[in-house]
Parts: sequence; C-alpha cells; structure tokens
Amino acid sequence: MLFTDEHMQLRDSLLKFIEREINPYIEQWEEEQIFPAHALFKKLGDAGFLGVCKPPEYGGLGLDYSYSVVMAETLGNINGGGVPMAIGVQTDMATPALAKFGSDELKKEFLEPTIAGDFVACVGVSEPQAGSDVAAIKTNARRDGDDYVINGGKMWITSGMQADWMCCLANTSDGPAHKNKSLIIVPLKTKGVERARKLKKIGMNSSDTAQIFFDDVRVPRRYVIGQEGMGFMLQMIQFQEERLWAGANSLGGLDKVLRLTVEYTRDRKVFGKSVLDHQWVHFKLAELATEIEALRALTYTATEHYITGKDVTRWASMVKLKAGRLSREVADTCLQFWGGMGYMYESPVSRFFRDGRLGSIGGGADEVMLSIIAKLDGTLPRPPKKEG
Ligand SMILES: Cc1cc2nc3c(=O)[nH]c(=O)nc-3n(C[C@H](O)[C@H](O)[C@H](O)COP(=O)(O)OP(=O)(O)OC[C@H]3O[C@@H](n4cnc5c(N)ncnc54)[C@H](O)[C@@H]3O)c2cc1C
Repeated sequence: MLFTDEHMQLRDSLLKFIEREINPYIEQWEEEQIFPAHALFKKLGDAGFLGVCKPPEYGGLGLDYSYSVVMAETLGNINGGGVPMAIGVQTDMATPALAKFGSDELKKEFLEPTIAGDFVACVGVSEPQAGSDVAAIKTNARRDGDDYVINGGKMWITSGMQADWMCCLANTSDGPAHKNKSLIIVPLKTKGVERARKLKKIGMNSSDTAQIFFDDVRVPRRYVIGQEGMGFMLQMIQFQEERLWAGANSLGGLDKVLRLTVEYTRDRKVFGKSVLDHQWVHFKLAELATEIEALRALTYTATEHYITGKDVTRWASMVKLKAGRLSREVADTCLQFWGGMGYMYESPVSRFFRDGRLGSIGGGADEVMLSIIAKLDGTLPRPPKKEG
C-alpha cells in the first residue's frame, strides 16, 4: 500500500495528540479502570480524528479506508490497549453500518454528533449466552405501533458505562436466525436501560466494559439501521471494518513492545553480556519482527482489496486471526526476555501481555475466524441434512 504525504500528516498529528492528550493520563485511567470518554472524544472529534472515512455531509473527512488503517496503527502507540479499543469502537465498530445503510435522518441524529465527539457510541452484539454464535442472541425488539419495545441484555460492552447510544443487534421477528435480526439504535438514557455493572477484567483496564439490561425499552421504529430483518447481514459487513481495524491497531502495539524489548534486553546484563547479545534472544526477536512485517503486508493487502470494493471477508478474517495469534506469541516471548521485570504488573510488557490477550477472543474468536476461512475455502464440513 502506498502512503501519501496526507497519510503521514494524519499519522504525525495523531502521534502528537497521543503524546499530549492521552499518554500522560494512561496510568491514572488504568488505575481508575475507566477514562473520560466524553472529554477525550470531544478533543478527538474537534481534531477530525473520529470520522476520517465517514461522509463529509456528516462531518467526516471522506477519505478511503487506508486512512483508517493508518489511524488504527498509530493508535497502537498509546501506552495500553483500552483507550485505542474504545476509539476503534467509536470509529470502526459501532458506526460503519450506520454510515453505510442508515437513513439521512438517523445519520444526522446519531452519526454527526458521534463524529464530532459529542456522543460516545458502543456496539451491542454479544450476550451472556451468545458471543461466538451471533445468530443465537435472545434480545428481542417487538413492534408496538411506531415503536420497538426491547427486552433482553448485552454483555461485555466496551464503553457501555459511558456511551450515549448503542448499535444494538436484536431479533425483530421469529423467522430464521439469519433473517430475523435488525440493527437498532438504542439511546442509552432511555427508560428501561440498566447499566447493571462495570466488569472487572485482566486487561484493557482503562476501558470500561459493561453488562446492560433492557426492560421494555421503547425506541421509535425509524431507529432501525437499513432494512428490518437485515441486521445479521449488516453486522457481518460491519465486522469487516472491525477486524481490519483490530489487525492494524495490533501492529502499532507489536512494533512498540518489540522496540521496548530490544532496549530493555540491550541494557540488562546476564552472564557477562547483554541479554540481547545472546543469540537465542536476537534471533527470536528478528523472527518476530519478520512475522510482524508479514502481518503488516497481509493487513495492507486486505485494505487495498477493501478500498477497491471487493468482499474482504476471507482477508479480514485472516488479518484478525493472525493479529490475535501473533500478539500472544510476541507478548509471551517478550515478557520472557524481560524476566522478573516482565512479570511486574506495572511493566509495559506485562500490560501488553494482558491487553493483547483479548485479540484472540473479542470481535470473533480465533476459532470463528478459522471457521469463516474454512467455509470460504470450501473445507468446512456441511451440517448433516435433516431427516424427513
Ligand atoms: C474486554 C472485552 C470487550 C468486548 N467488547 C464487546 C463489545 O463492545 N460489544 C460486543 O458485542 N461484544 C464485546 N465483547 C464480546 C466478545 O466479542 C466475545 O467475548 C467474543 O465474541 C467471544 O464470545 P464468548 O465470550 O461468548 O465466547 P464463546 O462463544 O462462549 O466461546 C468460547 C470459546 O469457544 C471456542 N469456540 C468458539 N467458536 C468455536 C468454533 N466454531 N469451533 C471451535 N471452538 C470455538 C473459542 O475458543 C472461544 O473463545 C467484548 C469482550 C471482552 C472480553
């Protein structure tokens, strides 16, 4: 992928923003297990960072997806995964379907203020009993005149304690599981929404993660994104940007942890020479650097295909799979080379180890990515035909 001066300008200005507005506060936010999303997103919105690929009619910059990839990769320079993840939810996970398929009225009401940083957005797909198996969600939205009445609940919702609205997947009929769902915008201050608890996690601590219940939550039917009944399909499309974003974001963090590990192991002496000067260590780091570049090439190729309008389901699944797997390998290897310091809670490599572990689980587990790739490659066994 060829980057232009504009890509580099975006990268440089975001790096400056991170060093000024985010990294100095990360330790405090990790400690508090939440960051001030409204205050930070307003600053990001004012700087134009929340809508680089969104239509200019709603305050976006109207650029192609390569700019989102540059942004995601650069966000990997934040000293922890929680804040970038919440930014990614705002820009590439909760809003792609709204931007592509939402009515003009809906985009004015929700997309525009989200790009401006006045609203914090979240995406509600997972439920306590249904994460990988999206088709099995139970939350339902029953029609009642011009409204939907929503009952059920969502689990592990990033920014859920602070968000103004949720892009919520719900069943809107009793039909077949892939054709009975809709994506509906649920303003989270609506009566009947309960932000039940902030979940305590092993990592991503600066990001708040919520369990949310819906008890007769009434929203207008015009809050449906696109066509009713198309929600499963639209969410699968929305996942493509989520997965490309996740791959690109992991690259920034991987580069950083490798760099920090080279610095640490160069300074630290064992058996009369630096840790880095032991062949196993510099060879292994060289191998991991090669793997990171391979992931970068895969991510950029997938992005090129996406920009030209191709269906990138297979590519995006490979990017997400490789990013999750490689983050675990790099985190584990680097932590090992940091020795006891690596095992300390406050060391950057241990935070990367904890935060990065989510990559193989969130937004579709590795096994789900493998199923998608196998299905598209024609190697996934078909379910047996029902008798009779
Ligand atoms: C910090 C955090 C933030 C999150 N943010 C959000 C959010 O903002 N919005 C949202 O909707 N969700 C969010 N999630 C939920 C996340 O997307 C789910 O956890 C994920 O999709 C996996 O679902 P599950 O946890 O129910 O695992 P399960 O579906 O119970 O799966 C458990 C394990 O089974 C295995 N498995 C799954 N499918 C297969 C298969 N086909 N073959 C073999 N093995 C398989 C995998 O190892 C998987 O990890 C978040 C989760 C976390 C932890």
